[in-house]
Amino acid sequence: MNKLYFYNTLTRKKEIFKSIKKSEVGLYTCGPTVYNFAHIGNLRTYIFEDILNRVLFYNNYKVKRVMNITDVGHLTGDQNMGEDKLEKGAKRENRTTWEIAEFYTEALKNDFKLLNILEPNIWCKATDYIKEQIDLIKILEKKNYTYKTSDGIYYDTSKFKDYNKLSHLDLDTLREGARIEINIEKKNPTDFALWKFSHKDSKRQMEWGSPWGIGFPGWHIECSAMSLKFLADQLDIHCGGIDLINIHHTNEIAQSEGATGKKFFNYWIHGAFLNIEGGKKMAKSEENFLTLENAFIKQNINPLVYRFLALQVHYRKPMEYSQEGIKNAQKGLNHLYNQVMELGKEKGEVDNNFKKKFLEAINDDLNMPQVLGVVQELLKANLVDKDKLKTILDFDKVLGLRIEENLMQEKFSDQVQKLIDLRKLARDEKEFIKSDELRIEIEKFGYNIEDTKDGQRVKKI
Ligand code: AMP
Ligand code: ZN
Repeated sequence: MNKLYFYNTLTRKKEIFKSIKKSEVGLYTCGPTVYNFAHIGNLRTYIFEDILNRVLFYNNYKVKRVMNITDVGHLTGDQNMGEDKLEKGAKRENRTTWEIAEFYTEALKNDFKLLNILEPNIWCKATDYIKEQIDLIKILEKKNYTYKTSDGIYYDTSKFKDYNKLSHLDLDTLREGARIEINIEKKNPTDFALWKFSHKDSKRQMEWGSPWGIGFPGWHIECSAMSLKFLADQLDIHCGGIDLINIHHTNEIAQSEGATGKKFFNYWIHGAFLNIEGGKKMAKSEENFLTLENAFIKQNINPLVYRFLALQVHYRKPMEYSQEGIKNAQKGLNHLYNQVMELGKEKGEVDNNFKKKFLEAINDDLNMPQVLGVVQELLKANLVDKDKLKTILDFDKVLGLRIEENLMQEKFSDQVQKLIDLRKLARDEKEFIKSDELRIEIEKFGYNIEDTKDGQRVKKI
């Protein structure tokens, strides 16, 4: 097997990757809080995780990927106070929390399709595993990690040795971070809720009985419970955006290792933010966010342009959103498609020399900007076209830019191509009336459209 290196947040070092089981990897990727659409910042993190997943596949690992759906317990204060984000979303839209969760989960799955992100093997909703979360809290209680306040059951972080092992921050700095939230009943500023009680005078839509009273789980416990449930003996890699390091992932480790006494995940890999102008993080709560729908689909830009853009920046470097960046990425992706188109359709052999360069780049902590350089070098190399084609299609297993699908399309006039693209978007968006109208428009140019399971196929009448 090739040597694969990842930067591990736990040790702050690039490390050689070794899976627990021989050729299978357990991968847990913290998922969305489903009270709104994913913004393109969230999607940057999911694209990075997809690249990681595909790089593991490319290195012949079988991957068991789990992604949770947070549909309860994530509070607007992001720690232990404030309103449940799901209840807030439900009020905003005059729907139930369950409806909100389902709607935004489906929307995310659709974004995944548009961005060619492979689906996890297991999607798990926090509300489906309440019992597992309660059981874990019971173990922590038995081991004396918990205490009760007027609003819930809390984790006493002073009882967990090495509470800062992931964040590498001294405890005073961690405490400063936690102090924004004032809760005089907490023993330590970093303590966090495992179980919150429902208010006596207002009924929540989502609440459950527990040994401690009616209420709901704290935000962090779901990821501990579901990681341990689904990846019990293969706790290899745990991922998310960098905002999860100091609180969410730190608390997941405290809960899981507190309960099991064993190491919880060997590798922690975090993606940097997508920022808007001025280096400000794009955030759902700030309402400054752009979705795939409004930044790409509504502008008639292929969503894969965003994937291509994300590949241009290393996942550990901040990425700045700009319209100009998107325009350039659009040109870049179209240029790449055209370059491949010129290679013809005959496939030869994968070039081993370039495959080696490609592997070196992907296996060096997912160096995708370097990979894009290798791709350009390949296209300019002194090789026969059919070998170039075969090699680039092989690379696309990781790039995920749907190069072959694009190649199979005939070259159309700009006008027809635009209509075809619009119809594809209409179908992806399930706007069937619009897609039928576009079909009629396209037929006027002398083309038939067939809808197959791999998408639409356009043929001359
Ligand atoms: P959330 O839905 O807020 O729980 O976040 C889902 C995922 O998106 C987490 O892994 C976050 O770390 C990540 N995330 C949130 N904001 C950004 C951002 N601006 N850029 C990149 N990733 C983000
Ligand atoms: Zn999580």
